[in-house]
Amino acid sequence: MCRHLGWLGEAVSVSSLVLEPPNGLLVQSYAPRRQKHGTMNADGWGVGFFDGDTPRRWRGAAPLWGDSSFASVAPALASTCVVAAVRSATVGMPIDVSAAAPFTDGRWLLSHNGVVDRSVLPADSGAESVVDSALLAALIFRRGLDQLGPTIAEVGAADPLARLNILAGNGCRLLATTWGDTLSMLRRPDGVVVASEPYDDHPDWEDIPDHHLVDVHDGTVTVTAL
Ligand code: GLN
Repeated sequence: MCRHLGWLGEAVSVSSLVLEPPNGLLVQSYAPRRQKHGTMNADGWGVGFFDGDTPRRWRGAAPLWGDSSFASVAPALASTCVVAAVRSATVGMPIDVSAAAPFTDGRWLLSHNGVVDRSVLPADSGAESVVDSALLAALIFRRGLDQLGPTIAEVGAADPLARLNILAGNGCRLLATTWGDTLSMLRRPDGVVVASEPYDDHPDWEDIPDHHLVDVHDGTVTVTAL
């Protein structure tokens, strides 16, 4: 399982979300606290953020902790919507930058924590990588994010062993699913964080139950069962 984090709110620095928290994605890349599958996330990383309506990505195929260029620039990158991830590659999957989340269709940034049997997914020549997560992302983009819940339920039924925690943002909306792995949410005065695990020990973190959909937009948060 990888670990991911999303932000929707006022403009904050990427560094304040990913690098600075005591148990942020940087620390989760080598010492996650709640990861059930895998012990570290050293097979790449990706940070996506919205620059106006434009999604921009900075990804790497090596461990996040070794990227001094990203650490240098991240404090100067601010955004109102961020989707970031560190990766623990599933056995048999490629390890290169195109396999690192977030994936994009030009409007959404999307990360997947988990694993899915690729034979239950339609082949997609438009997918960015042959990694299971990229094929799943392509399916979700094609169906539309408004159909995220039904799409996940359908894929979960086709592959009962699948773990399908999705996190997606489009600049004004964040969506996340729980299907087999952990997810927590922090409502801050300046916005909402949704993350595979809390980045600190603040008492306001809420755990999202399994098989749920989180939808954040226009200052509201809804959590519904899938
Ligand atoms: N299956 C995906 C990959 O190989 C995601 C892995 C994960 O969540 N650890 O990258």
